[in-house]
Amino acid sequence: MTETRSTCPYCGVGCGVIIESDGSQITGVRGDPDHPANFGRLCTKGSTLHLTASAPVTMATRLLQPMQRLARGTAAQPMAWDAAVALAAARIADTVRTHGPDSVGIYLSGQMLTEDYYVFNKLGKGLLGTNNVDTNSRLCMSSAVAGYKRTLGADAPPCSYEDLAHADTVFITGSNAAWAHPILFRRLEDAKRAKPDQRWIVVDVRRTETADCADLFLQIQPGTDVALVHGMLHVMLWEGLTDARYIAAHTSGFEALRDAVRAWTPKEAARVCGIREEDLIQAARWFAQNDRAGGATLSLYCQGLNQSSAGTDKNAALINLHLATGQIGKAGAGPFSLTGQPNAMGGREVGGLANLLSAHRDLANPAHRAEVAALWGVADVPATPGKSAVEMFQAAADGAIKALWIVCTNPAQSLPDQAMVRRALERCEFVIVQEAFSTTATAAYADLLLPASTWGEKTGSVTNSERRISLVRPAVPAPGESRADWQIGVDIARRIEALLPERLNGQSTLFPYADAESVWLEHRESTRGRDLDITGLSWPMLDAAGPQQWPLPEGQAQGKARLYEDGIFPTADGRAQFSAMTYRAVAEPRDARYPFALTTGRLRDQWHGMSRTGTLGRLFGHIAEPVVELHPTDIARRGFKDGELVEVRSRRGSIVLAVQASTTVAPTQASIPMHWGEEVLGGVDAQGEPRLGINGLTIPAFCPSSKQPELKHSAVRIEPA
Ligand code: SF4
Repeated sequence: MTETRSTCPYCGVGCGVIIESDGSQITGVRGDPDHPANFGRLCTKGSTLHLTASAPVTMATRLLQPMQRLARGTAAQPMAWDAAVALAAARIADTVRTHGPDSVGIYLSGQMLTEDYYVFNKLGKGLLGTNNVDTNSRLCMSSAVAGYKRTLGADAPPCSYEDLAHADTVFITGSNAAWAHPILFRRLEDAKRAKPDQRWIVVDVRRTETADCADLFLQIQPGTDVALVHGMLHVMLWEGLTDARYIAAHTSGFEALRDAVRAWTPKEAARVCGIREEDLIQAARWFAQNDRAGGATLSLYCQGLNQSSAGTDKNAALINLHLATGQIGKAGAGPFSLTGQPNAMGGREVGGLANLLSAHRDLANPAHRAEVAALWGVADVPATPGKSAVEMFQAAADGAIKALWIVCTNPAQSLPDQAMVRRALERCEFVIVQEAFSTTATAAYADLLLPASTWGEKTGSVTNSERRISLVRPAVPAPGESRADWQIGVDIARRIEALLPERLNGQSTLFPYADAESVWLEHRESTRGRDLDITGLSWPMLDAAGPQQWPLPEGQAQGKARLYEDGIFPTADGRAQFSAMTYRAVAEPRDARYPFALTTGRLRDQWHGMSRTGTLGRLFGHIAEPVVELHPTDIARRGFKDGELVEVRSRRGSIVLAVQASTTVAPTQASIPMHWGEEVLGGVDAQGEPRLGINGLTIPAFCPSSKQPELKHSAVRIEPA
């Protein structure tokens, strides 16, 4: 038996695993006792990885060779790799020549390794000359990115998992960590056991398993997070609980924020949020440590804040509270965004979003564009803003984007407004789907399918929520003809270079990589002098000393566990910037025709579109099938019976599923798991319109700053099916 160190490919906790293998077969997996994220623990998903990797059903659904679909709607036919690479390069180059670089879109994934991300970002922005490079991390993290940048000056979560043990108050908002980040939650439970007076405040629209553990639970109305936080700051100001010394020494813009929260009396904020005024006041006092001088407050937050048409405001409003109370830059304190995907952080680091460039540089900054152009050796990085995830598919539906290259993600299930997404995929002249699995909804729209290797088969690096970089190594060879994502990108890029030589700027190639490590070394150099500087890190060091946190600049032996301890922020004047936002309600409020507020959420034992977890029967033991949860009063008022089939309809589409009474949701709210697509929730409605899974209902409205769509709220009506 061989043992190989890797990480779990599911959530952003980034647990270390040891893969056991025998030849080409993964035979077991266990938690890595030496990995600082989990110290040997794994949740249900992580501990069954070997079963999903080796299950016959998994191998039956693997894409094992390149396939071409000669006509839409027909079966794809196998083809040789060389012909597939030539076809991809010719069609992409031809689209650029005929319609311009911005007629191509590249859509990536937080599941990709950092090296994969780096190659595709350079391929789009460097070689093709388009910033239409975005990722499903847009659906997950972009509001956290924009919130950190707006207030703290850089996209850098300032905390570490060890802060869980030091916190006196933990403020968990928009996160069901008990299900979505289980091992982090276990650490939090350990902290509470060791420190019984640690107080947990949980804010959520649903009474989740996390909320059940709270000392104080605020069940707010959907989308009212900014009103809540403004109300809390109002209380802190009224009661003298802000930290005037910290505000004066390390921040700017507080006066405008003070004016903005003046009208948010606790009474008004509690009314808008639908909670008790005394609970809001209690939350403000505990957050500000009114009774514990020197106490530390840690916030943990995730999609409840991020997946919102006001996502950046929600993030920034919470960070305002930390700055106003000096709860940042010390043990147990700070705003700690929990990343959804295993390598959303790595994607951000290499600039794999339409508005970013390598090493946390900004596309909108001419100096940053010039730095990256010099690094890559190209004449320029175009200034035209790239299209974010939803915008990219809208542009394809409108005919402006002609070719899509989709890597390691399933937008025909996961993006909102599936009817629009399907129009986009149908209208595109050429769709490349680069995937490990052949059965995703998106694969059915591919003109060219390229087989990619996946967990346990790849070499590279990932970064978890606490800025910790881990190396992953292959335990088994990739099956069939599948190849690493970065390698596929390089193979096709080199062929494109021959067709578009003008972008080479006199170089023989922009992609001179022999292996994943050589890609990483170029990425490392791009971070020199940046907030995430890792010039002191190397793969041999990661192998020898284990995972490391950034920054870790040259000359230092280890990374930083905590940022901003000196009170200096990466802004022009070194001060953090308060953000004085105005509260905005959800994009699509409930009304008489669509009287329920639909929210979507994660289940404990499933992951995203279930390409992997859905292959293992035991992972359905927790929850077997999707239901729509309604409050018992709504069930009674509508005359529904538990288990009855109902039609849930939004302005964009409908699905049919069973209804279930639940007190986890408030009256007028509905909750459906995010995982099931049209394979279970499909069919056609009475008018012959297709039903396209849960995201056939969700709204494509997005935050104007982060461009993250409001997957957490849509207005729906619910009627007997
Ligand atoms: Fe994997 Fe997340 Fe579970 Fe850890 S907590 S084992 S990273 S799914």
